[in-house]
Amino acid sequence: MTARTGKQYLDGLRDGRVVWLGNQKVDVSTHPAMAGSLSGMAGYFDWQHAHAEDCLVPDPVTGAPMSASLIVPKTPDDLRRRNRAFDRFARYSAGMLGRTPDYVNVTLAGFIARGDIFTAKGDTVFAERLHRFYREVVEGDLSMTHTIIHPVVDKAIGDTQGINGELALKVVRRTNDSIVVRGAKILATLGPFADELFVYPGQPQPPTIDPNMVLAFSIPMKTKGLITVCRDHYGVAGPAGDKPFSSRFDEQDAFMIFDDVEIPMERVFIDGDLDVYNGLMRQGWAANIMQQTCIRAAVKLEFAYELCVRMAKATNSDKRPDVAAMLGELWGYATLTRSAIRAAEADARDWGNGAFFADDRPLRATRSMMPGWMVRANDIIKTVGSHNLLATPSLEALDNPEIGPLLNAYMPGANGMSARERSKLFRAAWDFAGSALGGRSELYERFYLASAPRNQALDHTIAQMERPWEALPDMLKAAGIH
Ligand SMILES: Cc1cc2nc3c(=O)[nH]c(=O)nc-3n(C[C@H](O)[C@H](O)[C@H](O)COP(=O)(O)OP(=O)(O)OC[C@H]3O[C@@H](n4cnc5c(N)ncnc54)[C@H](O)[C@@H]3O)c2cc1C
Repeated sequence: MTARTGKQYLDGLRDGRVVWLGNQKVDVSTHPAMAGSLSGMAGYFDWQHAHAEDCLVPDPVTGAPMSASLIVPKTPDDLRRRNRAFDRFARYSAGMLGRTPDYVNVTLAGFIARGDIFTAKGDTVFAERLHRFYREVVEGDLSMTHTIIHPVVDKAIGDTQGINGELALKVVRRTNDSIVVRGAKILATLGPFADELFVYPGQPQPPTIDPNMVLAFSIPMKTKGLITVCRDHYGVAGPAGDKPFSSRFDEQDAFMIFDDVEIPMERVFIDGDLDVYNGLMRQGWAANIMQQTCIRAAVKLEFAYELCVRMAKATNSDKRPDVAAMLGELWGYATLTRSAIRAAEADARDWGNGAFFADDRPLRATRSMMPGWMVRANDIIKTVGSHNLLATPSLEALDNPEIGPLLNAYMPGANGMSARERSKLFRAAWDFAGSALGGRSELYERFYLASAPRNQALDHTIAQMERPWEALPDMLKAAGIH
């Protein structure tokens, strides 16, 4: 196969996977509540063909079209090419879909680029397995979800101590050609709609960790014993004009339970080797993945800015100083994000083994600020939008012969905007920032790559390791401070 269409993607989901929604086991491929989300995901696969010049590149092995997110980056051109693809993928949902398949594809391609980390001790078996898996993903155009975080029930103790360790995913049995794992992982966005669950390292772990928890593997979502527990679904039926995001883009998060899941060794990529586990995360992972995440964030912030500008014009308040200041603030977040991406790409380098990744510093700094910016963007949308966000009849109501004429007469926008255009605009804004899906999206932005405080603390630690902070001490010394 080659880069798939939406129909091919949907056909792949009919596989008997165990998915719980509320107290029901559901077939995601036919469940009515999931229909909008699935058509949204199928649309993503069709989008890559509609924008093939940006999204697809020839597979270097077969020549068939493959997602540009699977490029193993070796040159500045590769990074530029990926930038174009990430931007185009993000535009499909105005950045609201955080976990379109290009997200995990980038990580996998990055691990392939750093194959040397797997082979550092002379054993090539794990790297070869990972490469075969990468080829499966390329040739099947598989969509992957991922879970890298242990469910930390008790935050007063270590992430894998006490009850946290009891619930964490670990090997409980071994056979000649497989491992059996038990435990839970959070939080698989796209889980029920993906083909594969890729489990790979999260935060670097201390040497005291149980090696049975030091794992990376990938398994099909239909694997026996793998249970997908969905949060409430926030997708709603209805025309995109009424709910442009909720009608198509609930990417559905899920808690994953591994109820004694047997994993063939062919699909095990790390098995107890802490050097590989920690090395992968420390040596280029952030630089690689955050090119994708920052581009998606830039597209989303630019969309939020445009949305707010239109809302302000619809109420003729765009020149009011308080509103103009908020618009400028939002523009600033989007522009700083684009600038960080440019800086990171300009200072890209070989991270080892020829793996050409961006400079991680501007991207990590942006990542740490982004939760605050995204929350503020929603706050600005609500402040600028005010009651207008809720005085928005549906398209059907506007067409209703009885109430429609009154709604059309009483609810226009300023500057000659029709009630229909005004309603679509403010409904889109509410769906973006205030609906159930909008609320979930805000939570996603806060936590999807760990919380801001965790990231900031890590940024500080790395900064102290990487740079000799001498200029300031010299200045202090000159002032007599030691
Ligand atoms: C919508 C959504 C989708 C997600 N999708 C995925 C996915 O697809 N795959 C996946 O693997 N994970 C996913 N995640 C999980 C995500 O990785 C974790 O939720 C994230 O790491 C936060 O973990 P936590 O709840 O333990 O928060 P913590 O990092 O513990 O943060 C919780 C709070 O504690 C405070 N805090 C924590 N640690 C520190 C510290 N060291 N210093 C100071 N303050 C601290 C912070 O203020 C923070 O607000 C998703 C999460 C959400 C919300």
